[in-house]
Amino acid sequence: MLNNPVLVLSQSYEAINICHVRRAIVLLLRGKAEMLENGLGYIHSANDIFPIPSVIKIAHMVKRPRHEKKLTRFGVFHRDRYTCQYCSKISHQLTIDHVLPRNQGGEHCWENVASACVSCNRRKAGRTPRQANMKLIRQPNQPHNNLLFYIPRNYLENPGEWQKYLFLD
Ligand SMILES: [Zn+2]
Repeated sequence: MLNNPVLVLSQSYEAINICHVRRAIVLLLRGKAEMLENGLGYIHSANDIFPIPSVIKIAHMVKRPRHEKKLTRFGVFHRDRYTCQYCSKISHQLTIDHVLPRNQGGEHCWENVASACVSCNRRKAGRTPRQANMKLIRQPNQPHNNLLFYIPRNYLENPGEWQKYLFLD
C-alpha cells in the first residue's frame, strides 16, 4: 500500500513525477504538498488516520527544463497516446513512420515522425501520405511541454483519478 504510485503535479497542475505513497505522505505532513485525489482509502496509525493520496500537487515552484525533448521511439508513442496516426487504432505494437520518407529527404525529428500500426506502415511504405492516399489524424509536433516526463505505459491505463491530470491539451 505504501508503495502504491502517486502522481505528482506541479503548482500549475502539470504532471512532473510519480512517487510512492510513503513519500507523498511525508510531503503532505510537511506541508510541501497538497492532496488532490484520494483514490485508495486510509492508513491508520496509532493516533491518526491518513488518507492515502493518489494525486498530489507540490507547493513550490518547479523549473521547466529548457532543452528540447529528445526524440525516442517511446516518446513518440507516448506523444501519440499509443494511437496509430493513420487509422486511429490503439496498439502496443506500433512502428515509427517518417511522414515524409527519409528517402525523399524527410528528417528524423518530432515534426516528421508519427506512430503507425504495422499494417498502416506497410501500406504507406516509402511514400508520403498523399502518395499513399492516407491521412494523418493530426500533424506531428514537439510533445506538449506540460508532460515534463514520460509516464510509464502501465500507469496510463491505471488509476482513474489520474486521467484528468494527464494529457492536458
Ligand atoms: Zn493504423
